[in-house]
Amino acid sequence: MDYAATFLSRLPGASRRGHGLRRLVDTLKSYLPDEHIEQVLSAYEFGASAHEGQTRKSGEPYITHPVAVAQELAEMHLDAQAITAAILHDVVEDTSASLDDIEEQFGHEVAQLVDGVSKLDQIQFRSRAEAQAESFRKMMMAMIEDIRVILVKLSDRLHNMQTLGAMPAAKKKRIARETLDIYAPIANRLGINRLKIQLEDLGFKHLYPFRYRVLDNALRKSKGTQRQIVKRISEEFVKSMAEEGIDGEVIGREKHLYSIYKKMAEKKRLLADVVDVYGFRIILDDVNTCYQTLGLIHGLYKPMPGRFKDYIAIPRINGYQSLHTTLFGPKGLPLEVQIRTREMDRVAESGVASHWLYKADEKSDATPQRRAREWLANLAELQQSGTSEEFLESVKVDLFPDKIYVFTPKGDIMPLPKGATTVDFAYAVHTDIGNRCVAAKINRGLVPLRTPLANGQTVEIITARGAKPNPNWLTFVRSAKARTAIRNHMKNLRAVESVDLGKRLLDKSLKDLGSSLRKVGKVRMAAALEELGLNNTAELFEQLGLGERLSPLTARFLVGIDENGEADKNIASLVIAGTEGMVISYAKCCYPIPGDDVMGYLTAGRGVVIHRNQCGNLSNFRKQPEKWIAVSWEKDIDRDFSCQIQVETRNRTGVLAEIAATIADSGSNIEQVEVLGRHEDCSVLSFLLLVHDRVHLAQIMRDVRKMSHVIRVSRDCA
Ligand code: MN
Repeated sequence: MDYAATFLSRLPGASRRGHGLRRLVDTLKSYLPDEHIEQVLSAYEFGASAHEGQTRKSGEPYITHPVAVAQELAEMHLDAQAITAAILHDVVEDTSASLDDIEEQFGHEVAQLVDGVSKLDQIQFRSRAEAQAESFRKMMMAMIEDIRVILVKLSDRLHNMQTLGAMPAAKKKRIARETLDIYAPIANRLGINRLKIQLEDLGFKHLYPFRYRVLDNALRKSKGTQRQIVKRISEEFVKSMAEEGIDGEVIGREKHLYSIYKKMAEKKRLLADVVDVYGFRIILDDVNTCYQTLGLIHGLYKPMPGRFKDYIAIPRINGYQSLHTTLFGPKGLPLEVQIRTREMDRVAESGVASHWLYKADEKSDATPQRRAREWLANLAELQQSGTSEEFLESVKVDLFPDKIYVFTPKGDIMPLPKGATTVDFAYAVHTDIGNRCVAAKINRGLVPLRTPLANGQTVEIITARGAKPNPNWLTFVRSAKARTAIRNHMKNLRAVESVDLGKRLLDKSLKDLGSSLRKVGKVRMAAALEELGLNNTAELFEQLGLGERLSPLTARFLVGIDENGEADKNIASLVIAGTEGMVISYAKCCYPIPGDDVMGYLTAGRGVVIHRNQCGNLSNFRKQPEKWIAVSWEKDIDRDFSCQIQVETRNRTGVLAEIAATIADSGSNIEQVEVLGRHEDCSVLSFLLLVHDRVHLAQIMRDVRKMSHVIRVSRDCA
């Protein structure tokens, strides 16, 4: 007798029958060596004694739950570590056994897995929309570290859903919603169809018990007649295939309740339309035979136009492969047929888990694994930049995919999120291409960069050396990759600019105190940096430039004057040239232009915002004088600034066009026009213009004022 048999025979009667261990051992024997099964059995012993005396809500001994979780994973042929961890997954949370005990007895890897699952247990999601971003991020991070953690968790959730039992309805609903919103999509994204389907059906059952019952009954009723039709057509398929010498299996497909419900809800179909669809799956040995068989059945029944999908050539994002077609069957009944190889069928069922035991063989290019790995690597990269909310947004796009497929000029397929633009495409090809793209062609025609793409288009990106990403792109890109890349670029750019500005700010503040960077000297600077916890002056300048640290205070600190020490204020001012980039911006409330009297307001993370002295926002000055700094304009500034004017006119046709023409004649561009008010015989228009400076603006206003229907021209200042 082998070890497992001896072990099982030693167990007391009840556990042999009730705990599901025998079945688990049978499943494991089909793919694991004996020594691995021994490890699983000792985990069972460890778990059973740790959970001793605890019961499930159903009254069964607690250990039945972890064994059931392990069973599900064993059916997907997961390795011994994962099975062992599944058996021990609740031990640390719910019993006095510690992680160290597990590590000592079962090794580091198993302990890590158990720890990962225990941590996930502490996370509760309310719904997809409300999922706490940080919790969600933790979950994803656990998954990135070891994907087996999430497989144990999904299987744990499945068994809990199967045994929800007599819980209060409100609690059931919460768990059901969480299952539909978070766990089923993750199972789907990882391609584990068997888990996804069960999670969805159980989630549906507990969230909408009434709808579930109605649907379930309707399906049951139609099953008798269905079965006959399915049988007849299957036989017909098999016969035709045999005549062509094709060896394959034809299976009548069972309906998955939740998918029927979703079809009804989303496509507003009637129950009868959805139920009377017959599903078939044809399993074959190789890909060529799949296409051959497709041709064959298209000869038997006419295919419905637009319903054929080739997921063999273009796999779904989670690695799923199959041919899909719908035929007009007898009496016009729709027949949905899936055709795929045995291997594809296995992948369709277990997705990322389907090649588990081969994972050591890195050469095997198992698609779902590769895709899962790519996805997770992507997530890992994402989470290093950006907030939890951004991360959640990005992951949501991934988990609830709505993909389009476009082609590169070489004919490679590129999957992108729905609504993706040419810029998303450029970044999907390569970050460098995205960063340097200046124009795009769709099907060989030039289009604006913001153009959304549609399925099947061929997209070509035109790049230019030295071109840079435009912050404006953030308003239309859809993919997380593009968004992250553009943000990173901005961040780097801003770092350089802010060092420069910070240095000037500090210099100015030191001058106010009658000092300078040179006078402060290297020794004092080094000591100060150390006291501030900074590594070098560049870091200090950057913080100053970004407004995270205030230059007047830093200057005092450097020259050794305490907080209350008096110093001459505003002797020198910060001179701005309009070329500082993103660290200096111009307030949209008062639109300052060169020549205006201005002040600068330090905003943490955004550098200095310039306001006109008349601006209403300067009332803040009293409250936070340390944040306002004196600013003056450089003499010759060679760029245009936005500026707003209001024009009151009599209502005459064409008056707006005339004003626009006058403004254009004065060498200005109009960025925006708005009608602020319209009365019986006059209107107030607001123009946003680009001007060089005050002199230029004055000239424009004079020209407009001279026009016959213009009553008044003024510059706003909120
Ligand atoms: Mn559990």
